Amino acid sequence: MAKELYKLPPLKYGYADLAPYISEEQLRIHHDKHHQAYVTNVNSLLEMMDKARKEGTDFDYKAVAKAVSFNLGGHVLHDYFWREMTPASNASKEPVGELADAIKEDFGSFERFKKEFSQVASSVEGSGWAALTFCNDTKRLGIMQIEKHNVNLIPYFPIIMDLDVWEHAYYIDYKNDRGKFIEGFWNIINWEELDKYFKKIQK
Ligand code: MN
Repeated sequence: MAKELYKLPPLKYGYADLAPYISEEQLRIHHDKHHQAYVTNVNSLLEMMDKARKEGTDFDYKAVAKAVSFNLGGHVLHDYFWREMTPASNASKEPVGELADAIKEDFGSFERFKKEFSQVASSVEGSGWAALTFCNDTKRLGIMQIEKHNVNLIPYFPIIMDLDVWEHAYYIDYKNDRGKFIEGFWNIINWEELDKYFKKIQK
């Protein structure tokens, strides 16, 4: 089977389309530089391992396992992040469909969910993410606080929505005001798309 490498996914909207919540400059650097770096890094690691295996040489197994998890985690989380956003003029501002019902059932209301998710995002120590997830065993939605790209993840819990709260996600637009960035994020969520993921991940 022909092996492939990871690719930076193109955005489904223009770089300026998420303004004023995410500026063109911020989005360009975030997507083209930061996300690209994770893709480049994980691909280099894969190529290095291919080469070492072919030549029968060793590499630092512990460090490489850690670096693959970090960089591939970064790639995957950014991929979700870009896909779940849409220009504010298209955004429905509130959840729709089955996801709207599940949020209401599990959290009591969208307002309550929004508060919990925002708190989880704002309290990440250092760099990380907040992510909405779903457990197929218990049929419960949950919120994960992911440190860096790969710490505190619950294995096999699929991600419906995530929010990048690394400083590189907001420092150009908001300086150190993470809370303001989180507030803005609620205006550019593609709830129709999230409802589709929610249907897809249910077993
Ligand atoms: Mn990021």
